[in-house]
Amino acid sequence: MSDSHPILLQGAMELEISTLLAALTEVEEQSVGSFQFWQGKLGRRPVVLSQTGIGTAAAAAATALGCERFQPALVLNQGTAGGYTENLHPYDLVIGKTWYNANARFRARYGKTYFLDLVALEGESKEREFTGSHPFLHYSNQDLVAWLDRESLHYTRGRSVLGCIASGDQWNDEPDAIAALQQQTGALCEEMETAAAGEVAARLGVPFGAVRVISNNNRLGEPFEPDTAVALQEWIANIVKSAE
Ligand code: SAH
Repeated sequence: MSDSHPILLQGAMELEISTLLAALTEVEEQSVGSFQFWQGKLGRRPVVLSQTGIGTAAAAAATALGCERFQPALVLNQGTAGGYTENLHPYDLVIGKTWYNANARFRARYGKTYFLDLVALEGESKEREFTGSHPFLHYSNQDLVAWLDRESLHYTRGRSVLGCIASGDQWNDEPDAIAALQQQTGALCEEMETAAAGEVAARLGVPFGAVRVISNNNRLGEPFEPDTAVALQEWIANIVKSAE
């Protein structure tokens, strides 16, 4: 991780960036429209904090702007997520080893809905060449996943697990639907930015990773807890500061 290029740290909502912002030193703010960026340091490490806004379109645009302007060494998308499994509760962490675009769906003429492989869509004309019953997974940068996993030993507010993040402009609140999605996809949680940010980072050749704190588990009726976002950011600030 020794690099003079900054780490681009992303969060969607104010609540998901404010603790990191308070921890930054030597802060310089830049904005493009409503996209805000703060250059600064966490310990000796140069970072750029980005408030992406909520959802895929905003996250994609913020990632493109952030990569183009600041030439980061890596992009780390972080924030809250809704748990899919019954053993994940508010304050637990999900390190996104894989993620998928939950918006990409193909509704077949005979009624069934499939996952859609956007990469295979160009040039392919047969349904089976670009659809699947399981989501098309994308992989986070392995070194970043390994680093987050190692550092999760220092996270004291909940458990930490490695797995798959479902990502799209969707909020699921119906327990049976969440259980079915979990079974079909194997995802551990859902949120709205990782897939978009990850796709743009990949197109720009920037290593990418995502880590989410469970803020709600709608399958279990556990409501959104804003303080989970603070716990995650405190941990991230500490591990970035202590990174070699
Ligand atoms: N309702 C919350 C705000 C959540 S808004 C409040 O009361 O403050 C949605 C944001 O939270 C998105 O950026 C998304 O990434 C994340 N998120 C958290 N839980 C989610 C869930 N169950 N489904 C989808 N996105 C979720």
